[in-house]
Amino acid sequence: MNKALRKAVIAGNWKMNKTPAETAELIAAMKPLVAGAGCEVVLCVPFVDIAAALEAAKGSNIHIGAENCHWEHAGAFTGEISADMLTAMGVEYVITGHSERRTYFGDTDVTVNKRTRAAVEAGLTAIVCVGETLEQREQGITNELVALQVKIALGGLSKEQLKKIIIAYEPVWAIGTGRTATAEQAQEVCTVIRDTLAALYGRQAADGVTVQYGGSMNAKNADELVAKPDVDGGLIGGASLKAEDFSVIVRAASK
Ligand code: PEP
Repeated sequence: MNKALRKAVIAGNWKMNKTPAETAELIAAMKPLVAGAGCEVVLCVPFVDIAAALEAAKGSNIHIGAENCHWEHAGAFTGEISADMLTAMGVEYVITGHSERRTYFGDTDVTVNKRTRAAVEAGLTAIVCVGETLEQREQGITNELVALQVKIALGGLSKEQLKKIIIAYEPVWAIGTGRTATAEQAQEVCTVIRDTLAALYGRQAADGVTVQYGGSMNAKNADELVAKPDVDGGLIGGASLKAEDFSVIVRAASK
């Protein structure tokens, strides 16, 4: 495995937090702290904060993402946002399949696939989230389950389109709980993900894909997690709402 073949990406997931004014303030605080980072820095923010985030991030190394997108271009889908709408604003990234979307809003492997395909076809980079519940881990089915989630999420995507895919391994039991996977657990499942990608697209293509870990990653544990050979950065929830903590994680992934 060769980390030099792919870029480390630290992406914040703000979830349902921050007003546009608070967005401008937080990004202004982050900008000097992450300037010159040796990894890609992304902030995925609520839809209503996108305009403020793009404006605040202008001229910096911070890239802006959304937290979800619909699979249709337009139509009668009240409350949804299309991938085309996001690219029209200047958004570069979008999260698909986050466990909170799967748990609370009925997203399934099939709809995650549809959202991911629409995102990539619109030119966005999709951060595709996969991961097991605690019950599934205890049943010993983590590796098979995550491999299947990856296969279904990427169905219909070509090797060329794989360049616009990031996979985030996010054990559901570690998200927002303060309970982090050990670096060994993260490495094991990220390797399963890469092997799954290799089976689908070939080893060379798989080695070029960024595979993140997410789940209570913070300023204290980031170093150990991102040092693992198959962990190429992280998807960060709570700690991405604090400029100082987020910048420590960015620095850890820049080494
Ligand atoms: C997330 O929202 O993807 C996440 C990993 O959250 P947290 O870091 O708060 O666990």
